[in-house]
Amino acid sequence: MPIAMIVHGGAWAIPDDQVEPHLAGCRAALASGWSILAAGGSALDACEAAVRLMEDDPIFDAGTGSHLTAAGAVELDAAIMDGRTLGYGAVANLRRVRNPISLARKLLTGAGTFLVGEGAEAYAVAQGLPLCENDTLIVERERALWEQWRATHAAGTEQVIGGQDTVGAIALDQAGNLVAANSTGGTPFKLPGRIGDTPLIGCGLYADAQVGGAVCTGWGESIVRLALARRIVDMLERGLPPQVAAETAMRILARRVAGGSGGCIVLTPDGRIGLAWNTRHMAYAYRSEAGEDASGI
Ligand code: ASP
Repeated sequence: MPIAMIVHGGAWAIPDDQVEPHLAGCRAALASGWSILAAGGSALDACEAAVRLMEDDPIFDAGTGSHLTAAGAVELDAAIMDGRTLGYGAVANLRRVRNPISLARKLLTGAGTFLVGEGAEAYAVAQGLPLCENDTLIVERERALWEQWRATHAAGTEQVIGGQDTVGAIALDQAGNLVAANSTGGTPFKLPGRIGDTPLIGCGLYADAQVGGAVCTGWGESIVRLALARRIVDMLERGLPPQVAAETAMRILARRVAGGSGGCIVLTPDGRIGLAWNTRHMAYAYRSEAGEDASGI
C-alpha cells in the first residue's frame, strides 16, 4: 500500500516572525512520521511521533509553549483515532502531562477511552508516564501575553474567539491503516475547564481506514457545532475528492456559524491529500508516495 502523511501547525494569522519556526516544526514532524512509515512502521506510531515532536516544540499551542488559561495555567487536550478499528483515545484538561498524545495513545485499547483532569493524570501515572509541574509547560512568550491580557481583562469577561497553533497529523501506513491525531493547549485565556473541538471525535478529528481521515483546527466552538471532521469524512464517503471536501468544509464553517474560522487536513486510503483554511494562514507539511511533497503557511 502507498504511504502518505500530512501534518498541520494551526490556522490563524501567524505573525511574520513566527512563520519560519512554524514551517520548520511542521517539516520536522512530517520527517519523523515519514521515517517510521517508510520503514514499514504503523500510522499510529507515525502520528504519535509527529505530534509529540510538535508538543515539545514551544512554537506550537500544544504541550510545552501552550497558551495560558484565564487563570494563568496550561490545560492540554489531545486525541488519536485508529481508522482500522475506529478505536480512539482522548484526554482533556491535563495540567501535568508533558505529551498528552502519548496518554491518548495508551487509552486506545483501555477500558475508558476519554479521560479528563485528575483521573487522566492518575491513569498516566499508572501507565508509567511521568507527571511534570504545570510551570514547566509555560514559556516566557506565553507568560508575557497572559500578563498583558490580565492587565486589561477581568478573568472570564472576554474570551478570545479563534484558533491558534494547535497541531494535528494524519498518516497512512504500508498495512493500509489510516490514523488521525491532534493536540492543543486550546484558545488563549480560555476559561479553566473549557474543552474545544480537538479531543472530540467527529469534531476535531475522525479516521476511517475504509473512507479517509480529517483533522480540524481553529475556533473550537464553531467546529464542534458542525461536527466538522465527521462531516468531511461523510463527504469523502459520498465520493468527493479530498481537496473539494476540505474546501467545502471551510465554506460551511464560515457560512453556517457566525465567526466560524479554522482549517483542516484530509487524507484518503489511496493517499490523496486535501487541505484548506479560511484564516489568513495554516501551517502544514505533507508527503505521499505518489510524489506529492510540500510545506507552507
Ligand atoms: N481548535 C482548538 C480549540 O478550540 C484551537 C486550535 O485549533 O488552534 O481548542
